[in-house]
Amino acid sequence: MSATQAQAKPERRRSREIFEKAEKVLVGGVNSPVRAFRSVGGEPLIIEKGSGQYLYDADGNQLLDYVCSWGAMLLGHAHPAVSAAIAEQARRGTSFGVTTELELQLATLITKAIPFIEKIRFVSSGTEATMSAVRLARGVTERDLIIKFEGCYHGHADSFLSQAGSGLATLGIAECPGVPQALAALTLNVPYNDLQGVEKLFSEHKDKIAAVIVEPIAANMGVVLPKEGFLQGLRDLTRKHGALLVIDEVITGFRLHDGSAQTLLGVEGDLTTMGKIIGGGVPVAAYGGRAELMNNVAPLGPVYQAGTLAGNPLAMSAGIATLNELAKPGVYDGVNALAKKLVHGLRNALAGAGMVAQVNSIGSLSTIFFTPDPVTNFAEAKRSDTKRYARYFREMLNRGIFLAPSQFEAAFVSASHTSADIDRTIATAQEVLKFIAAQPSA
Ligand SMILES: *Cc1c(COP(=O)(O)O)cnc(C)c1O
Repeated sequence: MSATQAQAKPERRRSREIFEKAEKVLVGGVNSPVRAFRSVGGEPLIIEKGSGQYLYDADGNQLLDYVCSWGAMLLGHAHPAVSAAIAEQARRGTSFGVTTELELQLATLITKAIPFIEKIRFVSSGTEATMSAVRLARGVTERDLIIKFEGCYHGHADSFLSQAGSGLATLGIAECPGVPQALAALTLNVPYNDLQGVEKLFSEHKDKIAAVIVEPIAANMGVVLPKEGFLQGLRDLTRKHGALLVIDEVITGFRLHDGSAQTLLGVEGDLTTMGKIIGGGVPVAAYGGRAELMNNVAPLGPVYQAGTLAGNPLAMSAGIATLNELAKPGVYDGVNALAKKLVHGLRNALAGAGMVAQVNSIGSLSTIFFTPDPVTNFAEAKRSDTKRYARYFREMLNRGIFLAPSQFEAAFVSASHTSADIDRTIATAQEVLKFIAAQPSA
């Protein structure tokens, strides 16, 4: 095939039929906005099954998956140990509404890997985890304001829906109707990596800021790394001003090694939120921290938070199996080495196509930004040529490679990807990027 030709789209008749019907009963045909592919165009996928590094759509097309359920599937799809644990638990019952030993087991795996988390509360989504952590921070500090960073995403709780990343960034929604102005006013936004901006907010709002919440590595405006000293600076400022530091590790927890990104980056938050990987693809998230802080949550303390399905046994089983697999020697080294090879290959492919772009990456996370300038915050991320990203996404998808259907997300490499998969991805990207470079700029 010539490099100047677009690849024909695979046939997706059945997927299209299902999606058309879904649009009648599900809002936008989806249960989470980015799945509708609105920012990249093309038809949304309908997936029938997953196995290892592959997804299979309703028409039987195989896709090499770099979305990995937004990072939750670090082991890949239907990992035998995880599926077996879920099936085994399903036979014993799926929810009891009281405590199981499984909750103790998963909590122990997490607190062993991240010793500064002494106590944990399990919830069912990352949204709940961050919302609850902020409630706890407000409860113990008896203050109302929080600081968050533009482009960081902490789920869809009201307090976080101003200047958020991910879906909001993708859809270009700056503020969300339905969030009361009185509540939005309690969230102070500042650019990522702007320590001086944070310092200024602390001096402007003395003794009023309950917490700073941050992604230790931002991955919801695309991947953006913390600058040297940024996280430590937040640690120092929050201590100095009696605020809590909430580190949102819903994406980064257990992503880069068997533990938290905080450990690798040399900082410890007061409260940590987790999700995605710790549930192995079943809905689980958690917040935790020092016992002295967590003891303020009900039933030990007055800060109320509860969940009918929290600590769900199916989810706990999936999480335990996942963390046990990940703790085996060499798993992280393998994933991270593959991802490094991918990033190296993509940089070469971009150069080969004569494109000036940024590939931000760490461990198994990466994002291509089609901009000549470094991307260190959301404003810079938004300078990326998102039309070009959309074209790249569609051409890769037509060739059987599923990347994030948005500029403002990460590509995730899983432990089930192989060196051959990476070679194929790089070769495909070379072809696609050359093709795109030859197109008139959108
Ligand atoms: C995904 C994500 C969330 C939200 O988690 P959900 O389970 O989608 O509610 C929160 N924070 C970060 C950093 C995330 O990546």
